[in-house]
Amino acid sequence: MTAPNLADLNAANIVPFIADIFARRGADSYLGEDVTMSEHMLQGAELAEQAGAGDALIAAALLHDIGHFTNEFPDDALAKGTDTLHEEAGAAVLRAFFPQVVTDCVYYHVAAKRFLCATDVGYFDQLSAASVHTLNLQGGPMDAQEVAKMRQNPNLDAIVQVRIWDDLGKVAGHVTPPFSHYEPILQRVVDAHKKAAR
Ligand code: FE
Repeated sequence: MTAPNLADLNAANIVPFIADIFARRGADSYLGEDVTMSEHMLQGAELAEQAGAGDALIAAALLHDIGHFTNEFPDDALAKGTDTLHEEAGAAVLRAFFPQVVTDCVYYHVAAKRFLCATDVGYFDQLSAASVHTLNLQGGPMDAQEVAKMRQNPNLDAIVQVRIWDDLGKVAGHVTPPFSHYEPILQRVVDAHKKAAR
C-alpha cells in the first residue's frame, strides 16, 4: 500500500501503512550513523518503554524519524504546507491519527536538538559526529528568542525526552523487539485519539 491519497488513510489502516514502510525501508542507512533507520527508531521506542513511558511517548520515539521516508507519503501530505524537511513531513502525515504530543515530538525533534545545545552545557558533548554535522545544517544552537518560544510549548518536556532517546538510539548491533511488538501500542494511541476526537 504505497502512497495512497491522504484521504485513503484511516484509523484502521494507518498502523499497517507505517508497518509496511518499516518493513520495506527500515534497512535504509541512517545518515552517517552505524545503525539502520529501523534499528534507530526501534531503539528509541525500546528506551521509552524501558523508562516506563506511556503509549504516546513510545509511539513518538518510534515514529520520530518517519519523515525520512517522505517519498512513501501521499503527495498531498507533502503539499500541505510542508517542504522537504523530514520532521515537518513526518508530523504532517501523523497529524490526523495521533495526539498533538506525538506530532509535536516528531515535528520538533530537530528543534529540540538546537534547544538543548543552547540550554544544556553537557548536551552538545554527547552528540554523535553525524549529529554535530547536521546541527550546523539545521541552524546551530537556538538563539535566546528561539529558546524563549520553545519554552512556551506545553509539550516541551515530552519533546526533549524523545530527543534524548533519539540521541541514545544509535547503538550498533543492539537487538530490540521487532516493529510488530509496537504495533498494538501504536493502534491503542490511534484508537484513543479517535475516541477523544469524537
Ligand atoms: Fe532520529
